[in-house]
Amino acid sequence: MVSRVIPVQAFDLVIFGGTGDLAQRKILPALYRRHCAGQLPDTARIIGAARAELSRRDYQSLVRAALQAGDISAGKDAAGGQVDSFLARINYLAIDATEAEGWQTLAQTLGRPTADRVRVFYFSVGPALFAPLAEQIWAHDLADDQTRIVVEKPFGHDLASAKALNRTLASHFDESQIYRIDHYLGKETVQNLMAIRFGNMLFEPLWNSQYVDHIQVTVAETVGVEGRASYYDKSGAMRDMVQNHLMQLLCLIAMEPPAKFDPDAVRDEKLKVIRALEPVEPHHIVRGQYALAQEGAGGDEDQSYRETVGDPRSSTESYVALKAHISNWRWAGTPFYLRTGKRLVARSSVINVFFKDAPHSIFGADAGRHANLLTIRLQPDEGITLKVTIKEPGPGGMRLIDVPLDMSFAQALGADIDDAPDAYERLITDVIRGNQTLFMRGDEVEAAWAWTDPIIAGWTSRGDVPKPYDSGSTGPGDADLLMRRDQRDWQGINP
Ligand code: NAD
Repeated sequence: MVSRVIPVQAFDLVIFGGTGDLAQRKILPALYRRHCAGQLPDTARIIGAARAELSRRDYQSLVRAALQAGDISAGKDAAGGQVDSFLARINYLAIDATEAEGWQTLAQTLGRPTADRVRVFYFSVGPALFAPLAEQIWAHDLADDQTRIVVEKPFGHDLASAKALNRTLASHFDESQIYRIDHYLGKETVQNLMAIRFGNMLFEPLWNSQYVDHIQVTVAETVGVEGRASYYDKSGAMRDMVQNHLMQLLCLIAMEPPAKFDPDAVRDEKLKVIRALEPVEPHHIVRGQYALAQEGAGGDEDQSYRETVGDPRSSTESYVALKAHISNWRWAGTPFYLRTGKRLVARSSVINVFFKDAPHSIFGADAGRHANLLTIRLQPDEGITLKVTIKEPGPGGMRLIDVPLDMSFAQALGADIDDAPDAYERLITDVIRGNQTLFMRGDEVEAAWAWTDPIIAGWTSRGDVPKPYDSGSTGPGDADLLMRRDQRDWQGINP
């Protein structure tokens, strides 16, 4: 059963970049769904702010269209008037972060911050605008020490730029006011990973190198770089996915139990994991770049990575697979294999925890040996499966087979799971509630860059060129070799 909806407190949320892609596809639909769920108090106000000269009515039309473009409005509006009542909360102000116009109107609209109303500024704009926005906010007396800001990735391009960004934010806001969003952390299953580990007796005693053979984290996408080509070609999979999303998943899998589920206790433990990561050996990492699909291979896209970004010599990777080691008491000797890529055969985000074989088989060699596997699926079809070994039914002696103990959330929780908040809904309500547990702290981000930077510097100094792989495949063959050298195979991309 999905729990009862508890309304959040009164708030004003200003979305800088309110006409942008992220606002239209994620932020506004997330707020709309919470509105429909009855979680937003009547007095909550949402103000879009961006450069375009739009009237309030124009902006409401834009928001309506954004809701309709998603798949949420028609069904959710069955009770009637939900979209209209949501739009009634919405205002719009044309503001340029770097110009004076518009700010006075925003100040009049918001008034001085008060203790009974949470004030949130969502910086859904490029990081170059964070400093001007913060300066304008303080220059116009729009914030106090309870005001919160939400910032989106990328949190820097490397350690130096991440430090500079953190310094910029810190010169205007306390760390307790800064919410760095990684939407992976808002996913139901990611939080369930913590519930499974720390809410059950069953797993935690086995959750270490004595019992866990290895762990795989796969985040596979079928989409290519498409509309993000110019940003992505300067970034690549290592910066765009591994440094943040995969790193965060790794942290939640590997961290020690925090003393309590509170923001700093959790983030302290995650930070320790990142700091314990060993540098990655060059032969433990594979970079790939998607090429056209081989004829008949299933990929139906008509552009290679290089064609999409318009650079026939681009050496940016759209795929990374690597073997990482965590040098601490719990994990010494257990490798963590991470991989992520675009234009792969299936969209699949999955964590696989491979347990070791039982130390001795009493059934003899003919019965077969099977190790337990815990699979945590983030998408699609969020759920958790534990593969256990049983006897193959029927006569013919003792033969062992694997069967899944399956908990598909959709099955276990029935229709309620459809109404469970998605990642952005959960994270935005957490901001309003003032709960930073699922947001990255500045020092975590810096530690992740400190691990990532030497890997990228090594590629640059060696003139490394990513291996081409077919669109619609499972990635470059070298990634399979990485596993085979360790007598292992990847699991987790099922077409
Ligand atoms: P976008 O280009 O679609 O929109 C940018 C928005 O910023 C527009 O509303 C624009 O009017 C506004 N803007 C630009 N210059 C401005 C200025 N000087 N003053 C005021 N407003 C200004 O970008 P987006 O895709 O919505 O991304 C916004 C941020 O979120 C970026 O930092 C991006 O990296 C990050 N992000 C986006 C996505 C995504 O899926 N789109 C995912 C993760 C992170």
